Amino acid sequence: MHFQQIGNFLQAEVHGLCVLDETQVGKSEICRCVPQHWYDDRMPALPDLHTHSTASDGTLGPAELVARAQAAGIRVLALTDHDTLEGMEEAAAEAAWQGLHFVPGVEISVTWDGRTVHIVGLRVDAGNAELQQGLAGLRRFRDWRAEEIGRRLGRAGYPGLFEQARAFSNGRLISRTHFARALVDAGFAETTREVFRRFLVSGKPGHVPGEWADLGEAVGWIRAAGGRAVIAHPARYGFTRSKLRRLIDAFREAGGEGMEVISGSHSRDEVFTMAAHARDTGLLASVGSDYHGPENSWIELGRLPELPGGLCPVWHDWSLDTVSTASPVAV
Ligand code: AMP
Ligand code: MN
Ligand code: MN
Ligand code: MN
Repeated sequence: MHFQQIGNFLQAEVHGLCVLDETQVGKSEICRCVPQHWYDDRMPALPDLHTHSTASDGTLGPAELVARAQAAGIRVLALTDHDTLEGMEEAAAEAAWQGLHFVPGVEISVTWDGRTVHIVGLRVDAGNAELQQGLAGLRRFRDWRAEEIGRRLGRAGYPGLFEQARAFSNGRLISRTHFARALVDAGFAETTREVFRRFLVSGKPGHVPGEWADLGEAVGWIRAAGGRAVIAHPARYGFTRSKLRRLIDAFREAGGEGMEVISGSHSRDEVFTMAAHARDTGLLASVGSDYHGPENSWIELGRLPELPGGLCPVWHDWSLDTVSTASPVAV
């Protein structure tokens, strides 16, 4: 099989059907998608385009995460910490050392229609000032919110948790996950899941309302940094079908291009429902575990199912020629 580089796209000289045509994925003159087996050939081992490190609320350091992904057979890995690019350099260096293809990413907290929605940016330029400034603003809100969560829990009879959450965050950004660990550590709950249910969601003592980024803003930062925006774990929001379509429409309008079809937090049925949404709306399909560390034993690296057929993968036009894999993929 031969491949031609055309602009930023690789086109296969094959006579198979395109899974999407240009009317569905923009105004590209060339057919942007080629048959599924091409991706399978090109990405014989698992992609994982959504993971966390200690730079946000994961428990493995960026280098440890990369090493574990490599050991699990992942060959294309994105680090997508919440609202920060801090782990990028360490992860990229380790990926070069380990020989897997590293995708710089981020997971941006967004408020849309009064709800928190997460937008993943893939292949972002971590040096981009617009993206960095946008994320810095979100971290300032996070800092204030963390103190406010601490104050509210204190008033509800659970003192000292801000300090403990901050200690768990190791001086990096503080997320509700750090409060969850602090509350479990202090014996106020058995599991982090229980903490969220009892303390950290709407109507509970540690809940702090507030506004994250606007959807258009977040997609704009990602695009300004040369990245591709993807709706994270779309089945997790509990939206009705029509509300999810509204989100997708607003997201596309803003320049968003993809959605996670495979996610560590999607059930089998949800994978198929989300695949149908991606096909119907022409969004590219992404794959990510949302791995946060070995403590969350229900999600392990390298265990994701394959994308269902008829989808255009988010990586379809990535030139991975420079990928430094331990066992290079022939083109
Ligand atoms: P934050 O961005 O600080 O509001 O924290 C959100 C993070 O908390 C998510 O990225 C998850 O890692 C975690 N999280 C949210 N809900 C739950 C839950 N019900 N159980 C466990 N972790 C959760
Ligand atoms: Mn998280
Ligand atoms: Mn998320
Ligand atoms: Mn995530």
